[in-house]
Amino acid sequence: MRLRNSLTGKKEVFTARGNHVSMYVCGVTPYDITHLGHAFTYTHFDVLVRYLRYRGYGVTYVQNLTDIDDDILRKAKELGQDWRALGEKNGDRFLRDMKWLGNLQPDLYPRATDVMPDIINLTKDLLEKGWAYENNGSVYFKVYSYKDFGRLSKLPEDQWLIIANERGNHPKDPNKRNPIDFVLWQAAKEGEPSWPSPWGLGRPGWHVECSVMCMKFLGRTVDIKGGGRDLIFPHHECSLAQCECVTGQTLARYWIHTGMVRYRGEKMSKSLGNMVFVKDLKGLGTNATRLCLLNHHYGRTWEFDEAVKKKASEQAEFFQEVWRRQSGDGNRLTIEPYEQSFHDAMADDLDIPAALSSLQHLASDILSDSSRDVSDAKGLLNRACSILGLEMRYGGWK
Ligand SMILES: [Zn+2]
Repeated sequence: MRLRNSLTGKKEVFTARGNHVSMYVCGVTPYDITHLGHAFTYTHFDVLVRYLRYRGYGVTYVQNLTDIDDDILRKAKELGQDWRALGEKNGDRFLRDMKWLGNLQPDLYPRATDVMPDIINLTKDLLEKGWAYENNGSVYFKVYSYKDFGRLSKLPEDQWLIIANERGNHPKDPNKRNPIDFVLWQAAKEGEPSWPSPWGLGRPGWHVECSVMCMKFLGRTVDIKGGGRDLIFPHHECSLAQCECVTGQTLARYWIHTGMVRYRGEKMSKSLGNMVFVKDLKGLGTNATRLCLLNHHYGRTWEFDEAVKKKASEQAEFFQEVWRRQSGDGNRLTIEPYEQSFHDAMADDLDIPAALSSLQHLASDILSDSSRDVSDAKGLLNRACSILGLEMRYGGWK
């Protein structure tokens, strides 16, 4: 199997260390409800887990919940709600949406607030080894002390600050030596939750939360680390820097990133008001919604529109019709070429659109001649659908 590794920009042959694969996917900050961009990312990683298990690997899949960070505190303040209650409510909604989408539960689902002592230990380690500095109760990573910073995103240095500032960096923080330095521990602010630390009361930075959850549950080197493409910089770049400086080991062997979902010509965003939520698609049904997502390669950015919905609904109907088709007692429909092309596509950087296209041809062939024995063909369709998380049932789809 080959996967495109964001670190090298190339499709690489995937090799496991033994029979086991560890995978960490950055989870949501539960300050709002699940939109189609989240659904796209987590559904593709769900299929990756299913496919790796199908190929015989044991997979440990960890997805975190960032239950304390700037976004959730800001939103809780806006709404006049307790940040914990807001996180609980949206975290539960997220899990319900993922379940409705047919995504398997990750094996572990840690929260940032569960790992405070580990976050403090990593920060201490970075300070002791000279990669970080403390100022007025806050601790920062010295970006320019790590000569390989920028290795993952490959962004030119003059873009670092511009993009980081759009994504949560506080360049004017007076405690920083350099505006690009990122926060590991931030001193408590009035009205914000805080935890005790060797530097006084405070709370962790986002990048260190995720890095700690990844290394605590999956070890210093994880096989696959991923998330949406907008996490490459600064989030994953900073995670890589702080972890590799502390451990001297590779943080992730394969970095996998999903494309963005656009709507009405723009990336979905709250400020533009062009968000589509999973709850808006419930009328379509699980399989058709999943097909809306899986008809697009995980690595590409795509546009959600009525044509995408229509195509997915028709596909879901079509597969349903095939499933209802009774087998004849004539010649057996040959399935081997379809099976081969399905697996070739899946093994080629998880090309699910191509894999679905071979299933579509198989389905057409099943319907084309009512006298044929199609029991093997329906068996193949069923196996392939279960790898894709599409549920086939007598009497119709979900
Ligand atoms: Zn993360």
